[in-house]
Amino acid sequence: MLGLMQNRPLLISEQIEFAARNHGDEEIVSRSVEGPIHRYTYRDCASRSRQMANALTKLGVKLGDRIGTLAWNGYRHMELYFGVSGMGAVCHTINPRLFPEQIVYIINHAEDEYIFIDLTFLPLVEAIKDSITNVKGFVIMTDKEHMPETSLPNVLCYEELMASADDQFAWPEFDENTASSLCYTSGTTGNPKGVLYSHRSTVLHSFGIRSPDGVGFSSQEVILPVVPMFHANAWGIVYAAAMAGSKLVMPGAQMDGKSIYELMEAEGVTLSAGVPTVWMMLLAFMNESNSKFTTMQRTVIGGSAVPKSMIESFRNNYNVDVIHAWGMTEMSPLGTACNLKRKHAGLPNEEKNDLNLKQGVAVFGVEMKIVDDTGKELPWDGEKFGRLLVRGPWVTSGYFKSDQSVVDSDGWFDTGDVSTIDKDGYMQIVDRSKDVIKSGGEWISSIDVENEVVGCPGIAEAAVIAVPHPKWDERPLVIAVKQEGSNVSKEDVIEHLKRSLAKWQLPDDVVFVPELPHTATGKLLKNKLREEYKDYTLSSS
Ligand code: AMP
Repeated sequence: MLGLMQNRPLLISEQIEFAARNHGDEEIVSRSVEGPIHRYTYRDCASRSRQMANALTKLGVKLGDRIGTLAWNGYRHMELYFGVSGMGAVCHTINPRLFPEQIVYIINHAEDEYIFIDLTFLPLVEAIKDSITNVKGFVIMTDKEHMPETSLPNVLCYEELMASADDQFAWPEFDENTASSLCYTSGTTGNPKGVLYSHRSTVLHSFGIRSPDGVGFSSQEVILPVVPMFHANAWGIVYAAAMAGSKLVMPGAQMDGKSIYELMEAEGVTLSAGVPTVWMMLLAFMNESNSKFTTMQRTVIGGSAVPKSMIESFRNNYNVDVIHAWGMTEMSPLGTACNLKRKHAGLPNEEKNDLNLKQGVAVFGVEMKIVDDTGKELPWDGEKFGRLLVRGPWVTSGYFKSDQSVVDSDGWFDTGDVSTIDKDGYMQIVDRSKDVIKSGGEWISSIDVENEVVGCPGIAEAAVIAVPHPKWDERPLVIAVKQEGSNVSKEDVIEHLKRSLAKWQLPDDVVFVPELPHTATGKLLKNKLREEYKDYTLSSS
C-alpha cells in the first residue's frame, strides 16, 4: 500500500523561492570583481534568478543544455545557480585553476552552450577560444560600464542580458531526478570526470548539511563560504543557506587572510568553510596582526585532513570550533562531519581537539562501511582500517557520458580512501589508498606524519611520500616548506616527531623545498612528488 502524501518534486527553484518568501529581506553581501561591496536580498536574488531564466529561454537554452560558469563566489554566480538549474538546464561550474588543456577538455566534453565569465577569467578563455568548439556565446559577468575589449566572438554583457528580461517566470515542474549541475573532478590521473548532480540529490544534500549534526544552518547564521562555487558547488552551502535563510557573505576573488578577516568582521560572520590552506593564510595573518574574532563561532574545514595544530589554534587561541568534514565531489560533497556528542560535552579542550582530528560521523543519507582487500567488511573498532565504501541518494552512480557504473552490485561506491570507524561511528581517514606507505608489511599513514610535521615550529607545509627502499619496500620521506625566516633543520623535525611517532614510523629523510605542488582544488599533488623523488636515495638504504 502506498502512502497518501503529496508527491511534490524536490526542485532547486523552490529553494530560492522559499528564501524569497520567508527570509526575503535577509542579505547576500558580495565582494564584487569590479571592486565595491555589493548588497542585496534573497528577494532580489530570486527576482534576478527568474530574469536570468527568462533571458536564457530567449537565447534558446532548453532543458538539459549545459551552461558553463567560470566565476568566483558572488551574487551573479548565485543567480546562475538558481536561474540555470531552475529552468531545467545544467549549471556546469568550471574550475579556473585547472590547466588550460583540462579546461578545454571539460568544456568540449560537457558541450557547454554558453559560458558565463567573471572579468578575471577573460584572458583564460581568450587563450583557449579556438579549441572550444560547441560554445554559442560568452556572457561577461559585469555591467555595460565595465565591459572589456575582447577577442571572443558572440559576446554578451550580463547586466544587459538581465535588463532585457522580465522577472516574472513560472519555474517549470519536472522530475526531481532531472540533472541540475555538473562538476568535473580534478583527478590526479587521466581526464577529469563529470559528476552530474540532480535536483533531488541537491535538495536532499542541503537538508543533510543544514541539519545540526551536519554543519547546522539557520536564519541566525551569517555564513561566508571561502570554498569556491567551482569546487563541488561550494560544498552545497549556497543551496542550503537559501533553505535556511542564512545571511550569505561572498568573498569574490580576494581569498588572502587579511581580506577574509576584514570581511568576516565587517559583516558579522559566524560560520565559514574552506580547505586547510585557506585557514593557514588566515591564521598566519591573525597571528602577525594580533587580531581577534568578534563574531566567528564555527568553521568547517575539509578537502584535506586538518592538522591538529590548526584545530588547537582555532579553539584555544580564537574560541572558534572546528567542524572537520569529509566528502568528495562524487558525494555532493558531504559524507561526514565531526561534531561532538552529548557525552563529550564535559571533555577538556585537549580531548575535544583529539576527537576533532577524526573526519566524523555520517550525515543521515550517507551509509558507510570499511572492507579489506577481499571485500570482507571490517568491524567499527577504531583500529582496523580498510577501503571506505559509501552509498546514498547524493552519491554518484556513474560519470557523465560514461557507460560504466562506478558502484558494486549493492550500490556501494569505493571512495579510494582508507579509514577506520570507531564504535561511536566516527570515521577517520588513514590515507588515500594510493598514498599509504607500506613499510616492512606495516602501513604508515602519510596524513598522520604530515599532521605531526606541520606541528613542528618553523614548518609551513609538508608532504610525506613513500620512496622505494631495498629492505623495507617503502619508507617515508618528508618534503617540507619552511616558514619565512625560519632555519628549522632536518634534525629539529625528526626530534619533534619522536614525541608522537613510533620509531619505525619516523621518516628517513627531510627535504626542504621553496614550495609544494598542488592540484586545482588545493590538495597536495603527491603523484608529481613521487615521480620527482622516485630515484631518491635515502640515507638508510
Ligand atoms: P574532491 O572530490 O576533490 O573534494 O576530493 C575528495 C577527496 O579529498 C577525498 O576522497 C579524500 O581523499 C580527500 N578529503 C576530503 N576531505 C578530507 C578530510 N577532511 N580529511 C582527509 N581527506 C579529505
